Amino acid sequence: MKTMIIDPGHGGVDPGARYKGYEEKTLNLNLALKVRDYLQNRYDVKILMTRSDNKTLSLEERSDYANRTSADFFLSIHHNAGGGRGFESYTFNGSVSSETLDYQKVIHDAFIKRLKKNYRTVIDRGQKRANFHVLRETKMPSLLVEVLFIDNDADLAVLTNPSFNNDAAAFLAEGVAAALSLPEKQSEASLYKVIAGSFKDKENAEKRLEFLKKNKFEGFIDSEVVNGTTFYRVQVGAFSERANAENLVDDLKRVNVEAFITGGESKEAPVPLPTEPAKEDGVTILGESLLYGAQLDEFVRSINPSAPLLGDDYIKFGSEYGIRGDIAFCQAIHETDFFRFTGQVRPSQNNFAGIGTTGPGVDGASFKTPEDGVLAHIQHLYAYASKEKAPSSYSVIDPRFSLVSRGSAKNWTDLNGKWAVPGTTYGQSILSVYGRNLKHALQQLEKQQKDIQGALDLLS
Ligand SMILES: [Zn+2]
Repeated sequence: MKTMIIDPGHGGVDPGARYKGYEEKTLNLNLALKVRDYLQNRYDVKILMTRSDNKTLSLEERSDYANRTSADFFLSIHHNAGGGRGFESYTFNGSVSSETLDYQKVIHDAFIKRLKKNYRTVIDRGQKRANFHVLRETKMPSLLVEVLFIDNDADLAVLTNPSFNNDAAAFLAEGVAAALSLPEKQSEASLYKVIAGSFKDKENAEKRLEFLKKNKFEGFIDSEVVNGTTFYRVQVGAFSERANAENLVDDLKRVNVEAFITGGESKEAPVPLPTEPAKEDGVTILGESLLYGAQLDEFVRSINPSAPLLGDDYIKFGSEYGIRGDIAFCQAIHETDFFRFTGQVRPSQNNFAGIGTTGPGVDGASFKTPEDGVLAHIQHLYAYASKEKAPSSYSVIDPRFSLVSRGSAKNWTDLNGKWAVPGTTYGQSILSVYGRNLKHALQQLEKQQKDIQGALDLLS
């Protein structure tokens, strides 16, 4: 396994650049930790940190530490200041290995391309060389990135966008993964796949798929070579729990298709996660919404001004089904990336919860109107959270309602590995969006409270 070192610049008594109360050392550390987590969750790589808290470290301590390891790569993360704007990366301006320059090119290009696509004001300052200590004194290929200027207001607006840290970490990490050719963590094997037919003749597989589609089953064709013969397998689902796969096999019997289950191996090797203290009681899916529709819409539009206004629909249908519609809305934000639809689902599908997107090439369900999309989302949650019959006020339009193992998720975190696979932090991500929404609403209320007090003062 490859090893890399992440070096968050500055720290402790050395704040680095400062502007309007922001300190570079903190931005560096926050981004570095996100890059570490992103890589560790998705790739087979060992990551060492020169610092993972706010401690003081000299440049020598950083390079000495690196040189005591046999790491394959050293990445120093900084934010820029001092007149200018944009992103730049540095390698040592003396003699360096060809790998060093390759890594710079791959990481720089991968990062800036994605960053500019998502944050249009960002500028590329280019791939540079300089005589920086941590580049000169480290034995392994090393790169230093300057992620935007904290003292430039246009750059600072990007840096303080609530999505930026996650996005930038993902973009940087993907660049690193590509440069170092990091192998992806194997999670596929742990899934229970439902195979509705395996054929030597591809045409027969296509006919089967066609038949299944007519009967409202989503699937795709996968090929597998057994003893030199290629088999075309029609896969209609992949689940982390065997019971869900068995339910689907039963459903297929009703249309006279004999399906079988494969996979589910290496269940004992889950994706390692930073351990969090277990909480006694989680946040339940069933319950009353705390926020109003307008507070949901206002939050989502503070990040994506062209997001559709769905807050009221989530609250309304949520209360019909006894589901916390405000948190369901945050799940939709998580699934659709603030309704920017940067994933597999297209906006025209009105599928805000990724219903039926079970694998590559499977677009999932579509709904006629955004309102229907919200209703189906709430119904899908109801299937997970309750064993009761669905309320009769609406017909069930969630095409996968009957495929859910009923009542199998009490809390949002119980959706991990069920709604999203492997999805070991799926529920936590939803609750993290919800936390941000709550904070946003609180800030608005505090502002309103001040305004009201001001108006009252004028009257008295
Ligand atoms: Zn710096």
